[in-house]
Amino acid sequence: MTGHVVALCGGVGGAKLAHGLANALQPEELSIVVNTGDDFQHLGLSIAPDLDSVMYALAGLSDPIRGWGRRDETWTFMDALRGLGGESWFQLGDRDLAVHVERSWRLAQGATLSEVTAHLCSALGITARVLPMSDDPVRTRVLTADGWLDFQEYFVHQQCRPSVLEFMFAGAQMAGAQKDVLAALERRDLRAIIICPSNPFVSVEPILAVPGIRSAIQQSDAPVLAVTPIIGGKAIKGPAAKMMAELGLDVSGAAVARRYADIIDGFVIDHVDPIPAPLRGVTFFSAATLMSSVADRLQLARAVLRAADTLVA
Ligand code: GDP
Repeated sequence: MTGHVVALCGGVGGAKLAHGLANALQPEELSIVVNTGDDFQHLGLSIAPDLDSVMYALAGLSDPIRGWGRRDETWTFMDALRGLGGESWFQLGDRDLAVHVERSWRLAQGATLSEVTAHLCSALGITARVLPMSDDPVRTRVLTADGWLDFQEYFVHQQCRPSVLEFMFAGAQMAGAQKDVLAALERRDLRAIIICPSNPFVSVEPILAVPGIRSAIQQSDAPVLAVTPIIGGKAIKGPAAKMMAELGLDVSGAAVARRYADIIDGFVIDHVDPIPAPLRGVTFFSAATLMSSVADRLQLARAVLRAADTLVA
């Protein structure tokens, strides 16, 4: 089947499937909508961690061992900064730093985040269309027993140690969805909307909180399919499983499917997990969802597209 595919994703987990989809489809067949709720200002720089993870994955530049940032990275800047007594809790590799400097400079010159992202993608040889969910600032905040924390304070500085109670996406209500995001979701030739295996609370839900995006997904005739970020009761990376437990949810793909029940038509559970109890309006599919290699990414992307195609009325 042909047609346009919209993928919603956060950073490392989502980026892997986004890469698989980019390899399975022609560039003009895919729009990748990326969470910007993790973005923040640090040392005067505009940092967009999920956009960077997606760009690095698509450009084949991700570090496979560390699981974040760029491969072949060097740390001269960080060492020099530490030597000056500078803030060093957020690691900035030299190559990564060049991206933050270029983004910050272009934003300061008046470019939008979408324009800067398009420029960076083109400079890195990426042909797929990568869209920030909004050009306006949206900032994820996490309520813990110690009060509200900015996302990077919770995620990187405090290494996800505090127990989470609630999330908010500051600025989301005032933010406008990036125009190409809404246009892509409203395309007549939309083949599928794919929610990548990303953290539901801090990667996917900030995207859905931008006015117009959730309703465009709900109103679309195209099948909406999500892929589990939880395999065998565990997250592959990051705090998704810990958050689910702290929020009193079952730590399973089935619980993620329930969380998305009002927007999805299908859910891909990992093949090591049992098919969940029936959920109204949701068809379950089983697939190998662990993406340890580039070949795994492509295989999962193809399985997800095949599953979506079976959901077309
Ligand atoms: P972040 O913004 O960098 O945390 O990235 P995401 O939210 O996109 O990805 C984090 C989620 O991806 C975690 O919940 C992981 O369990 C999940 N994840 C990471 N790698 C894989 C994988 O290979 N397969 C699946 N199914 N999930 C993955």
